[in-house]
Amino acid sequence: MAPTGQKSGQAKKGLLERLDAGEVVIGDGGFVFALEKRGYVKAGPWTPEAAVEHPEAGRCLLNGQKVNEAACDIAREVANEGDALVAGGVSQTPSYLSCKSETEVKTIFRKQLDVFIKKNVDFLIAEYFEHVEEAVWAVEVLKEAGKPVAATLCIGTEGDLNGVTPGECAVRLAKAGASVVGVNCHFDPTTCVATVKLMKEGLAAAKVKAHLMTQPLAYHTPDCGKQGFIDLPEFPFALEPRIVSRWDIHKYARAAYDLGVRYIGGCCGFEPYHTRAIAEELAPERGFLPPGSEKHGSWGSGLDMHTKPWVRARARREFWETLQPASGRPYCPSMSKPSAWGVTKGDTQLMQQREATTEDQLKELFAKQSF
Ligand SMILES: [Zn+2]
Repeated sequence: MAPTGQKSGQAKKGLLERLDAGEVVIGDGGFVFALEKRGYVKAGPWTPEAAVEHPEAGRCLLNGQKVNEAACDIAREVANEGDALVAGGVSQTPSYLSCKSETEVKTIFRKQLDVFIKKNVDFLIAEYFEHVEEAVWAVEVLKEAGKPVAATLCIGTEGDLNGVTPGECAVRLAKAGASVVGVNCHFDPTTCVATVKLMKEGLAAAKVKAHLMTQPLAYHTPDCGKQGFIDLPEFPFALEPRIVSRWDIHKYARAAYDLGVRYIGGCCGFEPYHTRAIAEELAPERGFLPPGSEKHGSWGSGLDMHTKPWVRARARREFWETLQPASGRPYCPSMSKPSAWGVTKGDTQLMQQREATTEDQLKELFAKQSF
């Protein structure tokens, strides 16, 4: 869902109308991670069946065959409270990693697309792809619906897992029909902005036009390598020390905007206060503050009401903008060693199996990890 400012009494403008007019679209994401922390989603399968089992959970997060339908309904209901748009998204498939054919993989996307068409979403996103080849297949299917298509890869500056550079990836996605291209998930805001910069340069060199989009993690991941944060030993249950602050998000939103990105959002780790920080940083450009700012004085200004004078002394932008936060962990290294198994499409360990991983298979993996 992409919340923007509320303009009552008018028909909603579509995604491309907004981007073509130079407006900033703010992308709300990361709902699966957020639901896991609230006990509605199991880490591992990461299937958001909470949309069916606990619709109130999805509703109160303002995010947004049966699971997708229910999720669309919730997203639409919440979006209609403001001037937000609803996106239907498809992402990488285990079938692609298991080397299934283009036809087989496209059949999976088409099945998901049917639901989004039935629910009349505002636009479509092919997101979270590690291989541009598969993302292109997704875009080709999504284009069949005649709605605007955005496409994001979960890659860093080194490119996709087949070694295709970010610039080349962007060109292929745009040529396949994506009106908006960029990156989501897997890397921190700094890396995502750097990757989209390479995409922008690739598009310019090929004289191909597309809007730009970023939906990074809300975690610092300078040490994660080509595969992204899933290679970090802290993934997914000990990432908390890496969470970015709202002030980090201010810097990210400004950097993305200055680069020319107009679809600016977040993915795993993002909480509502992070999304609000994007809207607050870009309030001068957008012309308004988000409703959530009513309870948030800009740059800590609300602290002028604090009882303790040394906290009142923090009621200013320079304090928060220049603060280097301590981690609070005296014996904690600042970086960790990523797993870097280098396993991707075609590897036997990635072949999809119907049954759960067996004890013996797990033992093999545990042994491999200890080396
Ligand atoms: Zn994510």
